[in-house]
Amino acid sequence: MQSKISFNKPFQVGKELDYIAELIRSGNLGSDGRFTQACARLLEERFAINKVLLMPSATAALEMAALLCDLEPGDEVIMPSFTFSSTANAVIRCGAVPVFADIRPDTLNLDESLIEAAITPRTRAIVPVHYAGVGCEMDAIMRLAEARGLRVIEDAAQGVNAFYGGKALGSIGHLGAYSFHYTKNYLCGEGGALTVNAPDLMERAEIIRDKGTNRKQFLRGEVDKYTWVDVGVSCAPSEIVCAFLYAQLEAMEAITRRRREIYDLYYNHLEPLAREGWLTLPTIPDRCESNYHLFYILLPTAAARDGLMAHLQAQGIQAVFHYVPLHASPFGKRFGERRLPVTDELSARLLRLPFFNDITDDEQMDVVGQVAAFLKQAPAHMRRQPLVFAAGQPEESAP
Ligand SMILES: *Cc1c(COP(=O)(O)O)cnc(C)c1O
Repeated sequence: MQSKISFNKPFQVGKELDYIAELIRSGNLGSDGRFTQACARLLEERFAINKVLLMPSATAALEMAALLCDLEPGDEVIMPSFTFSSTANAVIRCGAVPVFADIRPDTLNLDESLIEAAITPRTRAIVPVHYAGVGCEMDAIMRLAEARGLRVIEDAAQGVNAFYGGKALGSIGHLGAYSFHYTKNYLCGEGGALTVNAPDLMERAEIIRDKGTNRKQFLRGEVDKYTWVDVGVSCAPSEIVCAFLYAQLEAMEAITRRRREIYDLYYNHLEPLAREGWLTLPTIPDRCESNYHLFYILLPTAAARDGLMAHLQAQGIQAVFHYVPLHASPFGKRFGERRLPVTDELSARLLRLPFFNDITDDEQMDVVGQVAAFLKQAPAHMRRQPLVFAAGQPEESAP
């Protein structure tokens, strides 16, 4: 059945085609040309990042980050299980082992208080994932990493233009990854960036990305010939893609403002249901400035989540959940059986609502209305269970 309200629709700001036409007319299709550089400078300046390297995806950026950390077989990397497979694949490809830690019940981000206990003599790095564009507790994570000599790779795939304590996500760890995938806030179909904040990694990042050659140094006149000096990959994105992306990055503030309106409308209209204990709304801590990447609700039980998702589907509303936790997925189980109570519980109760820039208020109100309609007729076993992880006790509704 064709959905009446789809879950996601890639947004276009309007100037993408103009920039691509301009590029093609100029004939300068060489990689790291005008548009790739413009994207990198914009991100470096706006987010105070030492070096931004545009990449084909956040996945590729995470893989490069793992290479830069010199991960070796048997090394351990602490990360949440509540994330996308790319976070773990990056370290596995170096032979390292992901060590999955549990998440905080309020933000669903890596629980910083559990990291220390997961550190062993083989631990090399921590990968905090900024879920939904809300920052992890980076002060605590960086303090711990510095004390133990660990690298921090921020998976900021969802965290572009979001902030923690005034600092941009992706600008805090030694390295970070951004995504411009067509489902993210600022997009170009497939795209990403590696953010390099550690000064000792900047030069090598450039070399690895350029097939292991010092071509960039040659182009800057720093060396008199360019040659193969290190391990490498070929990860410069096409200028055509960066021309598209530049139009989106220029419009970043307008896109974010619109996403905030969408977030607020859901939040405000679902709040009465949350107060009555039917569901839990997302939390944005005071120190965090969100980019409103997505909107999720937590239902009282897994059965309520599955029932609501089916109900919305039957009404032509596409709502989806994620993630099947990595530690419980077929491949993830190879890295040891683990019990992560918050991850297991909340991933089964989470539902994401349709969220894209062109969604109308009426469409959103339709979604809210159907959520309310389902919950209020739900069978008793789905109703008003105590919210195990909610901060306060749900209030009784008026008699
Ligand atoms: C989207 C996403 C990725 C992968 O991004 P790509 O650009 O598609 O490779 C990685 N990690 C997280 C948390 C994501 O949300």
